[in-house]
Amino acid sequence: MKYLELCRTYEELEASPSRLKKTEILANFLKKTKNEKNKEIIYLAQGKILPDYDTREIGISSQLAIKALSRATGVSDKDIVRLWKKIGDLGRVAEQVASKKKQSSLFSKELTTEKVFENLKKLLTLEGKGTVDKKMGLISELLTSASGIEAKYLIRTLLQDLRIGVGEGVVRDSIVWACLNKENKEEFNLVQEAYDKTTDFALVFEKACRGKKALESVELIPGHPLKVMLAPKAESISDAFERVGKPAVFEYKYDGFRMLINKHDNEIKIFTRRLEQVTNQFPEVVSYIRKSIKGSSFILDSEAVGYNPKTKKYTPFQEISQRIKRKYDIERMGKELPVELNVFDILYYEGKSLLQKPFIERRKLLEKIIHPEKYKIVLAKQLITDNEKQAEKFYKQALEEGEEGVMIKALNAPYKPGARVGHMLKLKPASDELDLVIVKAEYGTGKRGGWLTSYTVACRKEGKLLEIGKVSTGLKEKSSEGASFEEMTKKLKPLITSEKGREVSVKPEIVIEVGYQDIQKSPSYSSGFALRFPRVKRIRPDRSVKDIATIEEIERESEKSWKWRVV
Ligand code: ATP
Repeated sequence: MKYLELCRTYEELEASPSRLKKTEILANFLKKTKNEKNKEIIYLAQGKILPDYDTREIGISSQLAIKALSRATGVSDKDIVRLWKKIGDLGRVAEQVASKKKQSSLFSKELTTEKVFENLKKLLTLEGKGTVDKKMGLISELLTSASGIEAKYLIRTLLQDLRIGVGEGVVRDSIVWACLNKENKEEFNLVQEAYDKTTDFALVFEKACRGKKALESVELIPGHPLKVMLAPKAESISDAFERVGKPAVFEYKYDGFRMLINKHDNEIKIFTRRLEQVTNQFPEVVSYIRKSIKGSSFILDSEAVGYNPKTKKYTPFQEISQRIKRKYDIERMGKELPVELNVFDILYYEGKSLLQKPFIERRKLLEKIIHPEKYKIVLAKQLITDNEKQAEKFYKQALEEGEEGVMIKALNAPYKPGARVGHMLKLKPASDELDLVIVKAEYGTGKRGGWLTSYTVACRKEGKLLEIGKVSTGLKEKSSEGASFEEMTKKLKPLITSEKGREVSVKPEIVIEVGYQDIQKSPSYSSGFALRFPRVKRIRPDRSVKDIATIEEIERESEKSWKWRVV
């Protein structure tokens, strides 16, 4: 397919704010590709080249993109940077300079989506000496042949910031519109379920093209991650019983981070709930799994909890979070900040999906195949009861032992990937905090000069982000005291997309947990709400923009705040 055709679709998508319109545009595009064998075009339609379960990044810096653009167009680096400062979006700069370049370049060929794919995929595999030059070559080859609009979207794809407002929901819906019956709600669920099991839209699109039956046959793929099941909040023990039935399973809610463990063909892979592979970062977990779990293929759900190797005391999540992105000194980190794996579910075993099996059967299987060993690998602590007093006691015990609270699970429920359906609930002591994403930041002054010290945060409404406040307290001045301005500045700087005075806009990637006193209605922010006395509680590297608070949650919380004030 001509890349230009895809770019015209991007343009239409970018110009249409309505989700329904976006769905229609993308569905029309997908219809045109239905007969093509390779359905990977659906990745490119979202500015990606890989399925969601493969989180490798193209990893091109703005600097390299500028150099390649300069090489392809003959416009100097300096002029490109000057334009970038003025316009604020390197994609639009590329559009301007590429449309002015001499029309008939000797090397110019019409771009196809296949060629774009080919070069972008090569970028992923380059390593070692001369990598930068080779990357430059691949990118400028594409840019040399690109028209203005093609250059715009090529650059944005390379920088992984397509800005067309197409999220998971729109992709799912447009697959239904393109291949199935959009009047039937069940068919949206089918597509969603297939995606949650495989996290691969090309596979789902291909099945959907073949019809409902093919979609229904989609199963878990050993070796691939899935979307984990999520838990809505319970208000109290009795509320929990009412919702999951009696008796119910109570488990400690450990304060660590979720690990999805996958063993297939003797290879072990560990994924986070954001589908990032962290196998290399946790060699000790890999060895526990190899040693202590019977079976040649399985998928387990678990929580890894850090502990102090000397005192053997469990540590809060924040302490081990630095291991998630660690690339060097891994062995040492594993010794200094070891984790214990608390396994709480099994979804696949020896060639069979267990998603439909009742929870207690899945747990029984875990008890059979795991040989537990404290501080290495254990099963989540459980109580099965129909008695409120006993449950209350278990909950208190969990809190006394420093856990976050309890999870309450329905005895006979299936495992529903990706959903917050209420087969399991969470109960924690009430506190006011929200996970939000940073969209802008401001440089500090005086002794905080050079650091980004104030952060504008946003919640989400379908595919959009809505601002809800500015946070500038909670972080420390020195890294030795905990999460610091310095650390945050390091994280934010590579994400800067434009600058205006002291304020910068950043790609919405850094999620933080923000504590606050209450939520008020306010015209100052696009969400229509503002947080009172917000403070950064912690950085959440295990969260993505998809996990942040929604506007509906904020509306609910603001009503609560309002009630408290009236009382
Ligand atoms: P929170 O912010 O309250 O921790 P969350 O957004 O991490 O919640 P939820 O699905 O809403 O995610 O809450 C459940 C989380 O609790 C799981 O994602 C998992 O990481 C963690 N957890 C700890 N112990 C358990 C357990 N025994 N069973 C299931 N999940 C557990």
